[in-house]
Amino acid sequence: MRMGRVEARVSQGETIFGKIIRGEIPSDKVYEDDLAVAFRDIHPVAPSHVLVVPKHPFVSLLDSSPAEAAVLGHLLWVAAEVARREGYAEDGFRVVINNGESAGQEVEHLHLHVLGGRRFGWPPG
Ligand code: AMP
Repeated sequence: MRMGRVEARVSQGETIFGKIIRGEIPSDKVYEDDLAVAFRDIHPVAPSHVLVVPKHPFVSLLDSSPAEAAVLGHLLWVAAEVARREGYAEDGFRVVINNGESAGQEVEHLHLHVLGGRRFGWPPG
């Protein structure tokens, strides 16, 4: 069963992704550096479904300043690196950021979904 927005927060101002970043709960990591970590989604919607999460706890894209634009750009590079490591970079892959409730954002810590290993329809649901 998928978590709701309330359950996704493990305490005020903190989310389950913060606990994963600090290694307090396990994750299946595929990449990590000083700025970001990438790990497999527990409810994959594609043969490969990896989440790229900044170590800085941005709530969403709206929660960032021009001074932090380089970090946001780095997350896109990490998404491409994940696609290369997962082996579908040349075939094609999709990167999704759900921002806010109507887009389906459940965890209030910015994250990129990197999806690959199948064909994707457009427009997305
Ligand atoms: P979103 O709906 O864009 O906020 O995406 C949140 C994603 O986090 C969902 O696809 C969940 O399956 C995923 N997720 C939640 N908890 C975990 C966890 N402990 N490890 C890996 N993925 C998780």
